[in-house]
Amino acid sequence: MSVKYVPEPFRIKMVETIKMLTREERIQKIAEAKYNMFNLKGEDVYIDLLTDSGTNAMSQEQWAGVMRGDEAYAGSSSYFKLVAAGQDIFGYEYIQPVHQGRAAEKVMFELLMGKGQYSISNTFFDTTRAHVEATGARAIDCVVAEAKDPSIRAPFKGNMDVVKLESLINEYGVDKIGLVVMTITNNSAGGQPVSMENVRKTAEICKKYGIKLCIDAARYAENAFFVKQREEGYADVSIKDIVKEMFGFADMFTMSAKKDTIVNMGGLIGIKDDKELVTLCKARTILFEGFISYGGLSGRDLESLAIGLYEGLNEDYLKYRIGQMEYLAGRLDEAGIAYQAPVGGHGVFVDAKALLPQIPYYEFPGQALAIELYIEAGIRTCDIGSYMLGNDPDTLEQLHSEFEFTRFAIPRRVYTQSHIDIMADALIAIKERSSSIKGYKITWEPPVLRHFQASLAPIE
Ligand SMILES: *Cc1c(COP(=O)(O)O)cnc(C)c1O
Repeated sequence: MSVKYVPEPFRIKMVETIKMLTREERIQKIAEAKYNMFNLKGEDVYIDLLTDSGTNAMSQEQWAGVMRGDEAYAGSSSYFKLVAAGQDIFGYEYIQPVHQGRAAEKVMFELLMGKGQYSISNTFFDTTRAHVEATGARAIDCVVAEAKDPSIRAPFKGNMDVVKLESLINEYGVDKIGLVVMTITNNSAGGQPVSMENVRKTAEICKKYGIKLCIDAARYAENAFFVKQREEGYADVSIKDIVKEMFGFADMFTMSAKKDTIVNMGGLIGIKDDKELVTLCKARTILFEGFISYGGLSGRDLESLAIGLYEGLNEDYLKYRIGQMEYLAGRLDEAGIAYQAPVGGHGVFVDAKALLPQIPYYEFPGQALAIELYIEAGIRTCDIGSYMLGNDPDTLEQLHSEFEFTRFAIPRRVYTQSHIDIMADALIAIKERSSSIKGYKITWEPPVLRHFQASLAPIE
């Protein structure tokens, strides 16, 4: 049975024109871009699913807030409004704005870990891992086994493997563990949610060993919606109360506000009640981000962020938002196209390995599918697979990723049902001619994070 589309709980007041190039033009543009999605101009893309970060549509309330923004250097009213919203929603005493998620990581992580130490997460997001490693510490992923099989339908595939967590703590020694990080939802595992029970158990282990627990909170609201839908005992609890309960288990959070807070730029740090840590956090915020009461943002950004924190919790909105993913997934089910199932909160991760079995990992099936999607319908997605993973830093050999995904990251409140149908139709058209699709080789690559810059060419 087909999945019904959940109607938009809003109407459109301002529009941004997008245009569809011809197929010939698209073939030319992607060749000129050296088959790298990051080299395409935004204006040459019809539906842009490169990321859900900072690509969201703000509401009329948020735009009105932009006009009300108080630009005082110190003590602006927009800052106090943001702090009050953060305290109300998360229940933490200290709320610090910063310019984006990685800025929160930069301010906090050096205070908590260093050389010879380790940090453990359900799965680290790329920049979070990089900031752990920038302190000299090592980042270790500890996700449950079912996350690694796209065909296993489990309700909380983002969970921490708590048995492994405790054994890692004992193996490395308590003094060596600087911080435990719980990423909600688990972005790198496909936007998969984490259950309340799993956060509670993780917090119990952290308490037992005296290790701080930090929530990487970019998708706090989407995660809470999954808890309400899927976890026993939460069907009648409000999204706001679920968020507060979950954050109550942790000691601090770092947040990219470019996701669930539905703004284009921003981030937050929250500290529950550690006065000494707050003092250190303030000093480093002034050093890296500007004064405490603006943290690298304009007053207008603080104002729209404060409003977005609440809008992200709206249940009608979340139902529509997650409904979009479920609708697209439903159409893929009907067409027999595999993806990380069940779908996560912010996108659909299509299993390119299953769709293009003739392309080996070292010829990048996830990237090949992304290129076909652009040629087919002007859709920009990205590879989450061996192409993104890159080479072994020691042997320089191509690494073999566990997954070969093409990610459809869906911006918030931006696209409608007909756009989602175009995504499904494009995939179905590609599936019909999939056996003729060939892989790609890299003709130039930089030493690190190559997927942003590399040049590719089709294998003839
Ligand atoms: C986006 C993201 C970050 C980094 O945030 P930026 O705002 O891009 O700097 C950190 N963690 C997670 C889970 C994210 O999704």
